Amino acid sequence: MTRLVMKFGGSLLASRHGIKLVGDLVVESHKRGDEAVVVVSALGDVTDMLLQAANDARRWNEEEILGAINELRQTHVSAIDRSSLRDDKKSEVVHAVEASLEKLRETLLGVSILGELSPRSRDLIVSFGERMSAPIVSAEIRERGVGSVSLTGGEAGIVTDDSYGEAVPIQAATARMVRRRLLPMLTRGEVPVVAGFIAKSARGEMTTLGRGGSDYTATLLASCIDSDEVWIWTDVDGILTADPRVVKRPATVPQLSYSEAEELAFFGAKNMHPLALGPARTSEVPVRIKNGFRPELPGTIITGEQTKSRGVVKVVAVVRNVGLLTVSGETLQGRPGMAARVFSALASDRVNVLMISQSVSEANISMIVRRPSLRLAEKALRRELKGQGISIEGDPRVSVIAAVGAGMRGERGVAAKIFGAVASRGTNVKMIAQGSSELNISFVVNERDADTAVRALHSQTVGRVRG
Ligand code: ADP
Ligand code: ASP
Ligand code: MG
Repeated sequence: MTRLVMKFGGSLLASRHGIKLVGDLVVESHKRGDEAVVVVSALGDVTDMLLQAANDARRWNEEEILGAINELRQTHVSAIDRSSLRDDKKSEVVHAVEASLEKLRETLLGVSILGELSPRSRDLIVSFGERMSAPIVSAEIRERGVGSVSLTGGEAGIVTDDSYGEAVPIQAATARMVRRRLLPMLTRGEVPVVAGFIAKSARGEMTTLGRGGSDYTATLLASCIDSDEVWIWTDVDGILTADPRVVKRPATVPQLSYSEAEELAFFGAKNMHPLALGPARTSEVPVRIKNGFRPELPGTIITGEQTKSRGVVKVVAVVRNVGLLTVSGETLQGRPGMAARVFSALASDRVNVLMISQSVSEANISMIVRRPSLRLAEKALRRELKGQGISIEGDPRVSVIAAVGAGMRGERGVAAKIFGAVASRGTNVKMIAQGSSELNISFVVNERDADTAVRALHSQTVGRVRG
């Protein structure tokens, strides 16, 4: 018997026969004698819709709120319509969705009356996506004659701190609760369907784990219940050598190490939560990424094994939505403590620095930050470095490109091939990161050049950088 955690992504769930497909995959595994915990994302782009509604509700009137609710109703009711549920079961699930939509409407109305959105209310609002998808999937499984219960992340036992939007699981409490909640269900032969991405704080408030958090829910649960594997079902064949929306027919990477996959999550290949690989690595649970439309394919397996394929670039990834911050001036030169002042000013305004590079002359420091915090970062530095003869420049129109693969760095000729490929299309490289990781070489280009650079890099280096 194999114990699995199977996570189904929003793109798959919202596809034409998504709910039936998930039913097929879960029931097949149940028939093979596997024990499975299912984790679901919100349908399609429901989380984006909810986030938008949360922000806009401050200015909305009742009618505008109803407009958003109707759109969400349509998405869910049409998914229920296309499921295999019989009519009476369909209306039961529609009823559950209506109850959630009513609570959502009240919450949005509260935001609109106050004209104010707290991080706590935002989490409550976005939690409804997964709270509506989980009962639909659970009903589909029951329809096939397999016992199933749907649970929120909190009900499944995930306890976090109260840093809303990016809540951090409290490990010991989570492990204890998850085992207590889920193991008896597995023993009874039931399939728990857990709403991914959402959890509960120790004070009982709804929290979320951060974008792409359902993958994190899956690995967390797997580590708590000693699962044999985690299967992440999505709409592509696995981790691909590049984003299929940029490069035509990229190949599937058969195997990656936890560290390589972590690096890719950070650099935005697949929208995976950057911390999702942590629990899998700690408890040595292999993670498979598989295509729900083509389950016969092996997909990508992520394990502890790191195959150093002699300088080979395995995947080219892009981080968009970032900004470049350059601090320059003679006074940066040879003055101990200046770099420390720069970074502590940013840290005190909670600006997260993704990449750093300092010129050899020390006359400038360049940094990459998330685009929404670029202005805040500029302000923090101006305040800190006022009157020091230092110039601070922010450029919001850049992207980071990363070539990822173990054993690439330090190999002769790799960097030359990478930058040669980019230069061959006339793309200007604005900054090269001095990351300590052996797993990637990353650099910054103008946003408008990003796709061209990715294509050049992919065609000239993936799988064949060597001598
Ligand atoms: P899901 O809805 O299953 O959670 P995600 O949105 O998290 O899916 O990510 C899947 C999408 O990520 C794919 O449809 C694909 O277009 C995109 N993607 C970008 N880069 C890659 C890559 N290197 N490998 C696989 N998918 C990628
Ligand atoms: N629904 C959440 C998001 O869109 C979590 C996830 O899909 O993993 O970020
Ligand atoms: Mg996702």
